[in-house]
Amino acid sequence: MIVMAEHAGFCFGVKRAIDAISEALAHNPEVWTIGLPIHNPQEVARLEAMGLRVAHDDSEIPSGAKVLIRAHGEPLEVIARLKARGVDVADMTCPFVKKAQDTAEKLSLEGYHVVLLGDKNHPEIKGILGHVSVSGSSEVVADDEEARNIQPRSRIALISQTTQRQERLERVAGILTGKCSELRVFNTICRATSERQDAVRELVRNNKIDGVVLIGGKSSANTGKLRDILEAEGVNVLWVEDVAEAESNSQWFSGKRNIGIAAGASTPEWLIENVKAVVSEMTNS
Ligand code: SF4
Repeated sequence: MIVMAEHAGFCFGVKRAIDAISEALAHNPEVWTIGLPIHNPQEVARLEAMGLRVAHDDSEIPSGAKVLIRAHGEPLEVIARLKARGVDVADMTCPFVKKAQDTAEKLSLEGYHVVLLGDKNHPEIKGILGHVSVSGSSEVVADDEEARNIQPRSRIALISQTTQRQERLERVAGILTGKCSELRVFNTICRATSERQDAVRELVRNNKIDGVVLIGGKSSANTGKLRDILEAEGVNVLWVEDVAEAESNSQWFSGKRNIGIAAGASTPEWLIENVKAVVSEMTNS
């Protein structure tokens, strides 16, 4: 028997951006993104075969080209530079990320010191930071300890990376309360990440599962987190990127009757369906 996790595969923001890239490629011989549009090599290969070009930074994109801003977003200055060079920009920043960007811009213009809770090297955080007004101030904190090191200010606006945990945002808000006379907290956490994490816990807790096939790119951090959760639940995990990897692990299926299937937020539906068909064959053979 195969049991699917209730929430698996593309989140809303990634699906929206990937659909837009596919649509743009249907009407243009080539379309650019800055950085990989998704942490899934099979989906990137599919899009590259249609004409996707991936630039490391905006300076590589030729004038007159078409660029789609991926779901993580970009700093305002990057978009301004592209437009100034005559690049056709379609902004597919996820609306949840856009809300965090707009909040950072508005509150910094109002004079708040913007504190972002998240990973300073993540493109989403770089994009939000890049919306803080030039006259404003901001900093990024990764955890409680870094929040404790913030210098006191009169007014602070706390904004979170969309993938942060609610408990951490609440703890950091508590720490910042003692560092300013006015604190505004914006809960910009998106439920897509926690829904996928809760879904794999429920998958193994509510079903008699002999093992879980986890589908997703090996460089996908959110898929890695699902693997950690499954292993903490004590379940045997087979993490595969594609059909060939599932087929080459036929011995893993030996003696297993009930298989769960889970997938990260960057795994496309077509890949999930292809791997699911192989898993079905393996468990019935
Ligand atoms: S995880 Fe949430 S915020 Fe990030 S792209 Fe997906 S839907 Fe948007």
